[in-house]
Amino acid sequence: MADITTDYLIVGAGAVGLAFADTLIDEDPDCHITIVDRHARPGGHWNDAYSFVALHQPSATYGVNSLELCTDRVDTEGHNAGMYPLARHAEILAYYDKLMRDRLLPSGRVTYLPLTDYRGRTDDVHALRGILSRAEQTVAVRRKLVDATWFQTSVPATHTPAFAAMPGTRRAVPGDLPGLWLEAANPPAHFVILGGGKTAMDTAVWLIEAGVAPERIEWVRPRDSWMFNRRKLQPAHAALEELVDFQLALVESATAASNGRELCHLLEQRGVMLRIDPAVEPAMFHFAVISEGEVALMQQITRVHRNGRVTAIEPEAMLFGDVRVAVPPNTLFIDCTATAVPFNTRGQTRPFFDGDTITLQLVQTPFVPYSAALAAFLEVNFKTDEDRNPLCTPAPLTDCPDTYPYAVMANLLSGAMLSANPKTESFNARSRLHPTGPEIARLKATRSPRLAALAPVAEAIRANLPGVIKLGMAAKALHEAGMNSAGNRA
Ligand SMILES: Cc1cc2nc3c(=O)[nH]c(=O)nc-3n(C[C@H](O)[C@H](O)[C@H](O)COP(=O)(O)OP(=O)(O)OC[C@H]3O[C@@H](n4cnc5c(N)ncnc54)[C@H](O)[C@@H]3O)c2cc1C
Repeated sequence: MADITTDYLIVGAGAVGLAFADTLIDEDPDCHITIVDRHARPGGHWNDAYSFVALHQPSATYGVNSLELCTDRVDTEGHNAGMYPLARHAEILAYYDKLMRDRLLPSGRVTYLPLTDYRGRTDDVHALRGILSRAEQTVAVRRKLVDATWFQTSVPATHTPAFAAMPGTRRAVPGDLPGLWLEAANPPAHFVILGGGKTAMDTAVWLIEAGVAPERIEWVRPRDSWMFNRRKLQPAHAALEELVDFQLALVESATAASNGRELCHLLEQRGVMLRIDPAVEPAMFHFAVISEGEVALMQQITRVHRNGRVTAIEPEAMLFGDVRVAVPPNTLFIDCTATAVPFNTRGQTRPFFDGDTITLQLVQTPFVPYSAALAAFLEVNFKTDEDRNPLCTPAPLTDCPDTYPYAVMANLLSGAMLSANPKTESFNARSRLHPTGPEIARLKATRSPRLAALAPVAEAIRANLPGVIKLGMAAKALHEAGMNSAGNRA
């Protein structure tokens, strides 16, 4: 006999597992859930993130359905001024803690096992082990195992870098930077940021805002990146018209473009995409969202190395294979090379619903919490996997401009499918995690004149769908082959 019996065993108490649990307990008022996680607190990788991390998207659509994440107001200061707030590290952790303490546990239907490793299953019994207690426990699952670990989020504080660090090299992860005041007697003379993704961008902005002169910063950016302009992605209740403009730009540009790179350039012309250096062709697009203010700060750093990835660091040099680049004495190397989410897991998607296992992935890229909450809704409100899976074809996490049109196409087709189904349409209308659903429902209910803004969207989608599919299918082939349109590995 197992130590614990439960209806759903959720592995992972990050954004995904918690968004799923939160919706499940509302949709199925009888079920019992057990959540296990290696971390000591809810919130998954956010527990390991640097203290100056913030969401890159407005908080309005992040978290879980039952709980707002930030107050509904516009920031008045800093590089996000004029836009809706981005929850910061401490707020995100407090949010998930509150969710667990004030809602999930008091429901009496949730058992939470932190500091616990899920070790797999033998027949119908699942094995757990306490990380500190070393105690073994078994779980019998009446309904389903829910895998909320698919994203395998990797952050600098916990990953193993792919470069060597020679003895005596001064190095840090972003989370160490606020603690540099402790080294006031010997602060770094010079800084090198390693990596071109959003963590590196946050680090660059943090250093400049902390008063480090841009000449004292070098940046190893193996690939430059396109980013979404945050001004175009504000919450629907405040900026539905901008979101409509975003959608029109997407489908019209897809028709006009002959490949993903062109698509990104056309989106740049329409103010939707940004890049740091207008003279450099970005080879990466990981759905980062940024403000024009942050871009202006990052543009102050002009010492950028584009020799590929660093293979080793030494106290006064960095190596790119055989190429050695000298750096000043007392340089601090900052490792921002973790992969975040797996943009390289091509072909590793699987059906969301597969018998007694649910694997939480993306229904819409990159709407992580929404996708998990929708999966809980599908689980309860549809009878069979054959009913559920067509409504949640796993969406791709594309890696670069060349493959991005595949995600555009997948989102459009998925959105059409979910709107055409009355049950999922009604879920979207009440899910705060959906970018437009609740606002459109509210406008419809009040017969608002603002609905007129939506009028061109359906026609534009209909007219441009062939173009979106043509571009999307070509990009899908590249994504699945792991190549970009220049014939290189992406
Ligand atoms: C710095 C950073 C900023 C980001 N900003 C945004 C943003 O603004 N908006 C956005 O939508 N996305 C953002 N993302 C993407 C982000 O990864 C997702 O939003 C989301 O947090 C991923 O949640 P998750 O639950 O899949 O993963 P995780 O947070 O990694 O949670 C998975 C959990 O599973 C646990 N686990 C794994 N294996 C086991 C096991 N065998 N036994 C027990 N427990 C296990 C882990 O301990 C972990 O706690 C960001 C990512 C990073 C790295």
